[in-house]
Amino acid sequence: MNEAEWRAARNSRSLRYAGRVLDPDKRVHLRADPAYAARYDGQVAILVAANLFGRMTPALALDIPSVPVVAPLPWAGVDLREYVLKQLYAADPFGKFAQCNASDGDYIIHLGRAGASAVVHGSGWNLYAGPAPSPLADDETANPVGPAMAAILAGAEAFRSALSHPAAFQLNALTWHAGMATAADAPLPTALSPGALWFVGLGSVGTAVLYFLTLATRDFSARLFDMDKVKIHNLDRSPLFMDRHVRWQKVDAAAEYLRGLGITAVEPEPFALDESPAWTGRPLGVPDVLISAANERNVRAVIESNFPPLQIYATTGRNWQAAVIRHAPFEDPCSCCLFPETAHAPTTCATGSLPQASNGEQMDAALPFLSFAAGVMAAAEILKRGLPGYPFVSNRVVLNTSPRIRTVPAALSLRSSCICQKRSSTVHRQMLDLPV
Ligand SMILES: [Zn+2]
Repeated sequence: MNEAEWRAARNSRSLRYAGRVLDPDKRVHLRADPAYAARYDGQVAILVAANLFGRMTPALALDIPSVPVVAPLPWAGVDLREYVLKQLYAADPFGKFAQCNASDGDYIIHLGRAGASAVVHGSGWNLYAGPAPSPLADDETANPVGPAMAAILAGAEAFRSALSHPAAFQLNALTWHAGMATAADAPLPTALSPGALWFVGLGSVGTAVLYFLTLATRDFSARLFDMDKVKIHNLDRSPLFMDRHVRWQKVDAAAEYLRGLGITAVEPEPFALDESPAWTGRPLGVPDVLISAANERNVRAVIESNFPPLQIYATTGRNWQAAVIRHAPFEDPCSCCLFPETAHAPTTCATGSLPQASNGEQMDAALPFLSFAAGVMAAAEILKRGLPGYPFVSNRVVLNTSPRIRTVPAALSLRSSCICQKRSSTVHRQMLDLPV
């Protein structure tokens, strides 16, 4: 396959969604303030920005220092610049990635508190883009959410503005309001143990949740359900899939990533959830969280009819939106309240599923930064579990990236005839291993 064919396939979903990709003739120059690049938060911002932009344009130039990656990032000790360049070529073997100085006409993204007239900065739960210096305080916890989201929303603005005039933004990812979280507001503990996590759907959002979680902790087990294989068009918006994974089972590519980071309790299941005995025969109290980022084969009904645990996931929408959703048993409306069973029709309301292609394949489409944003929003909700003051936010929060970056709480409504209104709470409590 030559570059033109590969690129047409890789970019097909962005083209379908927005009718365009980033102009490959206008170079994006990603650089970082040296002080920020030596810190955990700065390195998260660099890794995520490079991962995202490298999937959106082949014309990405870097100016990042050659410094060791710091703990608790999984690649601690390796050279940051070398690692980033290697990952860029793994995702796009035809790219034109290099370390160099900015040229006239480049679109510059400057990561850090200061050092340029406009900066992109994230630390702890907070994120900012706008005139320097950044108003954010340095957060010394290993929290990837603010810096990752700052990098992702810089990608959203680059795309929305077609590499011309990005708008400023400021948010905190703890409550998803514009005001800043302080260091005393729900600091992430040093030892994070999210427990047993079962991922239903290892598409762009499911793999993004995994990726962002691993930037904070590797102390969890993962069971991975997905029957699909990696295709070239998945490479534009999953932060895990590399070119060499094309034609692999998605669960095997995700399992390889996790095992490579030292996570040993990984069980890939290349099946749909309704075909897996692991789901209906699961032990009481397992898993701790179900990350249900799939929407085929009536998966919501399969989940809700079997007394599910806490569900956290995110979706990407048609109007440049992403949404993070939580279904806490006995507290929140369930996923069938949100996605009623409609004769096996694809869920078009929140997922960005577009009409079927002529070959009958269901055509999912989203923009790269929306899948990344959905992933980090869901990872954030998993990391917030157990912090004093949890859950901090409505059971659904919608992120708009156009016409401007804005988050909106949008609480779910109970549906009176829904399965969750009929199932036995006694059995459900038993399944969750709770006192009856
Ligand atoms: Zn319901």
